Amino acid sequence: MKGSSHRFETLAIHGGQSPEPTTGAVSPPVFQTSTYAQSGVAKHSGYEYARTHNPTREKLEAAVASLEGADLSEPTFATAYASGCAATSAIQHLLDAGDRVVSGDDIYGGTWRLFTKVFARQGIRYDFVDLSHVDPADAIPEGTRLVWMETPTNPLLKVADIAAIAARARQVGAMLVVDNTFATPVFQRPLSLGAHAVVHSTTKYINGHADVVGGVVATADAGLDERLRFVRNSVGNQPGPWDCWLTLRGLKTLPLRMERHQANARALVDWLEAHPRVGRVFYPMADSHPQVEVARRQMSGFGGMISFELDADLDTSVRFVEACGVFTIAESLGGVESLIELPAVMTHASMTPEARRATGIADGLVRLSVGIEHVDDLIADLDQAIGAAFSA
Ligand SMILES: *Cc1c(COP(=O)(O)O)cnc(C)c1O
Repeated sequence: MKGSSHRFETLAIHGGQSPEPTTGAVSPPVFQTSTYAQSGVAKHSGYEYARTHNPTREKLEAAVASLEGADLSEPTFATAYASGCAATSAIQHLLDAGDRVVSGDDIYGGTWRLFTKVFARQGIRYDFVDLSHVDPADAIPEGTRLVWMETPTNPLLKVADIAAIAARARQVGAMLVVDNTFATPVFQRPLSLGAHAVVHSTTKYINGHADVVGGVVATADAGLDERLRFVRNSVGNQPGPWDCWLTLRGLKTLPLRMERHQANARALVDWLEAHPRVGRVFYPMADSHPQVEVARRQMSGFGGMISFELDADLDTSVRFVEACGVFTIAESLGGVESLIELPAVMTHASMTPEARRATGIADGLVRLSVGIEHVDDLIADLDQAIGAAFSA
């Protein structure tokens, strides 16, 4: 839906969606086909082969594009991929050997692995900097081809100034890509702040039901979208139609879910900040957050991701997490169900203890992905688990 005047909640349901033309089906069919019949030799409807085109996938792409471009007057585009990592790879495939990339240092572990263990071997140079603290003019030198950032970051939820970084990236002719998985377009639209493209792991909030792995890149640059389509068709990292359909179904309730994630998280932040066994609490929109001003300037809210320090050693922290009942111990995030994990021994275990300490990830750091259950049950669960951990 290009330059639509509809509001975000309406776009989440209708953006790029129209009933299927043959039958009028309101829910888009799953086009489970690899190829399309041609009416004569080289006479086709625009659909030849499913690596290149699939109508179910196109519906998902149109929906995500309309949400990420909701503030823009120009049209937006999106390409869908088999995972968030595949979406991240698609951007790297646009680079040439010898190109320089500046990346945030507190990025998703799988992105760090992809950069340092896969694309660095193909001659791309990655420099990692703390984009939430360093002046963009110092962090992004002349000659940079790509700037890669996440904000808020994982697990410490550090916030970096997208507009300031976009201005510097544009000054040196670099492309700025923002991984918007944590904030979602409900709360943050990097394209309207000057980013060239947005990447999502749709596995997380966009699908929101912990039952699909997927990714997407959105952009308002038609040429960039076309190059991404060429790369995807060449590399072959597209999602299947069922996964697209499930993700599209999940996406329709994204604004509703994010409101509840946020309301639950804010209540939990208040409760945690008042708890005597809890140290620092990390939540971008909390008054205690060091970059709360930037957060409030560029985000209209935040969802269900909270990290906090339990005033405890690793053994007690493990007992606490294992005593939870409503919160499930699991990696990943962004689903309707609440999850809990200990970054030091789970999502960030591949970092050395020194590297974790340098980044600020304590042994007692707990990461919550707050779901959309009743908040009283969530608070009661954490309360009894803290009691159980400290009385043992
Ligand atoms: C999960 C995640 C990814 C990777 O996505 P997959 O769908 O797991 O490949 C990238 N960035 C962020 C912020 C993530 O949380």
